[in-house]
Amino acid sequence: MDVVPIPLLSDNYGYLLVGPDGERAAVVDCSDARPVLREVERRGLRLEAILSTHHHFDHVGGNEDVARAVPGVRVIGSRADRARVPALTEALADGESFAVAGLQGRALYIPAHTSGHLAYVFPDGEPSVFSGDTLFAAGCGRLFEGSPAQMMASLGKLAALPDPTRVYFGHEYTLKNLRFAHELEPGNRAIAAKLAHVERLRAEGQPTVPSTIAEEKATNPFLRWRSAELRAGIRARFPDVVDDDVAIFAKTRELKDAY
Ligand SMILES: [Zn+2]
Repeated sequence: MDVVPIPLLSDNYGYLLVGPDGERAAVVDCSDARPVLREVERRGLRLEAILSTHHHFDHVGGNEDVARAVPGVRVIGSRADRARVPALTEALADGESFAVAGLQGRALYIPAHTSGHLAYVFPDGEPSVFSGDTLFAAGCGRLFEGSPAQMMASLGKLAALPDPTRVYFGHEYTLKNLRFAHELEPGNRAIAAKLAHVERLRAEGQPTVPSTIAEEKATNPFLRWRSAELRAGIRARFPDVVDDDVAIFAKTRELKDAY
């Protein structure tokens, strides 16, 4: 599978997935139809499907336009978001398999940013996951429709994927996320090294996708509530916080909301 990141809107990524025949394609999170269709045409591809991770406009804003421009295109989304994903034709529940463009995928239900959020996992070849606004490089989505405990469970499902799994996330927030992570764990060498690397990439205007599950476990404060340094940092900022995993995670999220 070839994955082509397409920068959309101000800092979103859509992803064009090109199947093994080099002709059939799908797009993950189409917020804007025109740049996606332009890329499909430029590469001489046939767009078979849109995969929507969640209903927010900056992830599905192009669905209707693509459905009009490409008759018969499939629009795949979460069963829990049936009423909110525009032009939806196929609704998936947790663990359900699907095939698009000759690729085998699986839906992973990961609510909390929104109550219907899905990730799409492609386990074959170079395993990949499209994590939408739930798992970012060194960050996680805001809790618009879920609790800290629910987000921890959803992130835990993603963290349980094999370490080499490539993580394709919904927004280019990596630099700011890593600065926050570095403040919480100044002694974490993996964070310091990745921050230096990402500063170089962004200075050159390069995207920071993909990450990997292994990198996220080493650098993402929202997967690192067990880190003694992170816990001490949170307790220093919130002296009244209860020393348990959910409370530490919730305070980490609260701190990031204001960062
Ligand atoms: Zn969102």
